[in-house]
Amino acid sequence: MFVRGMSPSEATHSESSLTFAFRGTRMLVRTDGASAKLPADIGSAESARRLYLGTLDGRPCEAVELRDGPAPSEPLAFRDLRSLMGSLDEELLKIAGIASQVLDWDRNHQFCGRCGTRTVASAVERSRKCPRCSLAAYPRISPAIIVAVRRGREILLAHNRRHSGPVFSIVAGYVEPGESLEECVRRELREEVSIEVDDIRYFGSQPWPFPDSLMLGFVARYEAGEISVDGTEIMEAGWFTRETLPQIPPAGTIARRIIESVLAET
Ligand SMILES: [Zn+2]
Repeated sequence: MFVRGMSPSEATHSESSLTFAFRGTRMLVRTDGASAKLPADIGSAESARRLYLGTLDGRPCEAVELRDGPAPSEPLAFRDLRSLMGSLDEELLKIAGIASQVLDWDRNHQFCGRCGTRTVASAVERSRKCPRCSLAAYPRISPAIIVAVRRGREILLAHNRRHSGPVFSIVAGYVEPGESLEECVRRELREEVSIEVDDIRYFGSQPWPFPDSLMLGFVARYEAGEISVDGTEIMEAGWFTRETLPQIPPAGTIARRIIESVLAET
């Protein structure tokens, strides 16, 4: 079990410690066929920052940002976290998401956003505080909704410009200030595909550290409207059944879980 912590109770660099080493958004792994593991050690690579995360089954976990350098040689490789879904142990992938997120936050909050003074890391909580004006910065979580719309046996799937390849998924978008999750669901569907829905039900959630989202999943019932895509974010959308399903997001994503759950009931 992973237990969050701010400082190691024992030596951080014990032999059994787990290192989540990043260069930008990509993490260093040891690849072995289709599976990936954490590297046993990161050798002499120079680090730009180190953050203690907590322990996994008693083993200290540390996030490390590596400086630019030569590409590692096989079987070591830097990989995007998304590409590690299904090949890296799920618990390790979850901690890797935390590592990626706190490294990104720490890198972006070295100076106070209000007065520009260099910030200082708190020893007791995950925050950086300004010694001059006392403004504290915490890792930001950006809530986003993701929603499956069902119409009888059909599900609404859309192709987003951001997706590489011909992947169709369910509609998603960030929650705006002052908006409830249900209002966000209705607005995103209205804006992106011109569809009105009813009977909005919570499905489940998934941290999505790209860079700092929390995906909140919903299932809603089609109420009215003809599909019309916005043409900027959504390029194509349609109603699909189990028999006509296009390529959908990979296993390990909440999008995939919602789509499979909805289709299992048809
Ligand atoms: Zn300040």
